[in-house]
Amino acid sequence: MPMRIVPSLIAQPLYASGMDIRNIVILTGAGISAESGLATFRGPDGLWEGHRVEDVATPEAFRRDPALVHAFYDARRAKLGTVEPNAAHQALARLDSEWPGELLLVTQNVDDLHERAGSKRLIHMHGELTKGWCLRCDERFRWIGPMGEGAACSSCGAAGMVRPDIVWFGEMPYEMERIDEAIRGCDLFVSIGTSGAVYPAAGFVQTARYCGARALEMNLEPSLGSTMFNESRIGRAGDLVPQWIDELLSSSPRA
Ligand SMILES: [Zn+2]
Repeated sequence: MPMRIVPSLIAQPLYASGMDIRNIVILTGAGISAESGLATFRGPDGLWEGHRVEDVATPEAFRRDPALVHAFYDARRAKLGTVEPNAAHQALARLDSEWPGELLLVTQNVDDLHERAGSKRLIHMHGELTKGWCLRCDERFRWIGPMGEGAACSSCGAAGMVRPDIVWFGEMPYEMERIDEAIRGCDLFVSIGTSGAVYPAAGFVQTARYCGARALEMNLEPSLGSTMFNESRIGRAGDLVPQWIDELLSSSPRA
């Protein structure tokens, strides 16, 4: 896909004063995982792998039909074993290891591709497919393989009380205070592969801009909040993200 750069209404040269970028917050969404072959959270048909989100991604759905919800997430977890991090994940891991300033990668994705690529400064704001959460003892723990209705907690031993550690619709995303603090203190906010449709993540760019940061988005199409960004780069994350990180690491002083 050809790349093009769309200057927004409030455009200013993003790297004209690139030397003063120190603190970076990066938000990633379904688009970056889609390029590794994982179905986007909501496809063009409005469904997620053939399911309405109301049927598989709400606490009510889990109470109503836990077997269906477990089967859905068991299938998503199994799929992880068939995909690999792509060039965008790899480049973000390189930035994490080489960037001397503050950096926080916030992902809306529940897959493990960022950590498999090597990212360390990472928050899964919507939870993780590779974790279970015991509703009896409140422990969270790593989970590989199918979970199902009868899963036993590895901490308290209770059976049938473990759910996928996924933030469902109607539930509070994780680590919002830490994310908000990082956004308020960042010089550059970058959004990758997200449509800007799901709050609270969709509001991050506004907070960043109000607090004085510059903002860059990379997406297959301008997002819903596109005019909030200083610059929108349109194309595949696997092409755009490595290019941007090369620019950033070559234009900024090392600590
Ligand atoms: Zn337990």
